[in-house]
Amino acid sequence: MAELNLDGVTKVFGEGSGNEVLAVEDVNIDIDDGEFLVLVGPSGCGKSTTLRMVAGLESISSGEIRLDGRRINEQPPAARDIAMVFQSYALYPHMTVRQNMSFGLEESTDLDDDTIESTVTDAAAKLDITELLDRKPGELSGGQQQRVALGRAIVRDPAVFLMDEPLSNLDAKLRAGMRTELQRLQEDLDVTTVYVTHDQTEAMTMGDRIAVLNDGQLMQVGSPLDLYHRPANQFVAGFIGDPSMNFFSVTHEDGRLVGEGFAYPLSSETERDVGDVEDCVLGVRPEDVTLVGSETDAHDFQVDVDVVEPMGNENNVYLSFPDADPDVSGDGPGTFVATVGGMRQVERESTVVARIPEDAI
Ligand code: ADP
Repeated sequence: MAELNLDGVTKVFGEGSGNEVLAVEDVNIDIDDGEFLVLVGPSGCGKSTTLRMVAGLESISSGEIRLDGRRINEQPPAARDIAMVFQSYALYPHMTVRQNMSFGLEESTDLDDDTIESTVTDAAAKLDITELLDRKPGELSGGQQQRVALGRAIVRDPAVFLMDEPLSNLDAKLRAGMRTELQRLQEDLDVTTVYVTHDQTEAMTMGDRIAVLNDGQLMQVGSPLDLYHRPANQFVAGFIGDPSMNFFSVTHEDGRLVGEGFAYPLSSETERDVGDVEDCVLGVRPEDVTLVGSETDAHDFQVDVDVVEPMGNENNVYLSFPDADPDVSGDGPGTFVATVGGMRQVERESTVVARIPEDAI
């Protein structure tokens, strides 16, 4: 049972070398006892460094990490009561599964042989790897090796699990299955867990709460629905969701948001929210854009269909405002994506009416 607090945690690599890298800056996260927190963000944003500081594998430049209220900054890794599962599994190739799982216990505890044996057997049963106990890692599939790596963490009965992209070496199907299984296991064991991934889908499907990092800074911590419906900033809005949110650079004038090739009228309520901001970004999720029969609402627009990308159960329809000037700099100005049901026929190079509902912007 453990609560984990990161308080102003900062990491500067190469301090004083003249070649400093500010990898993690002033990160504050409070992780509840038994919580499954996912740390997500693009490659290089500081996820692994944060996890390694919690594990004690990396020193902390400033700030404090507390486990159940005790400062652990200076504690060596073995004294922290934390078990880490790596992407690479880090199994000993010359040892059997049983030896891999019992090794840490023999080294770091004074448990007798019978207790170690029964602890390993119990963990193996939970992970459904009992029949693999006498094999060596080279004789196992990737998914099986992943289970052994988990087993090695479980037998230690730690206060906290740290997992660094543990599923990224598995193929897509196995990964989806293991996500569910990991969640179930974590719920059963009720151990505080910090799980690192760069994959927003994995974060959204697994986490009780998600912490989004970008460029060493914490952008937002919240439930998957919080992040989805109430993103704290444009980075989170664009990072969460697939395909990602549509953004338009707009200017706010005369009760409208004027973008490249369109003008979007605002209700008085939204007008109040926008206030006296002039330059802003309008964002709408692809699944909130609908294609309607004809223009009946102020938020309906005649648009061109550029590309239709069939996804099976749905289509991603790439649209553009016909009046948008293609010479305006920016990322395809006036273009956006709508996700519509797969049964709906949309012809490429046709004209349709897209509705961008005001309650979704
Ligand atoms: P992530 O896990 O999100 O991909 P990392 O935590 O590995 O990101 O890296 C964060 C930043 O710190 C990156 O800019 C990376 O290049 C840098 N970094 C990581 N480890 C070291 C190191 N040992 N020395 C110098 N810079 C490092």
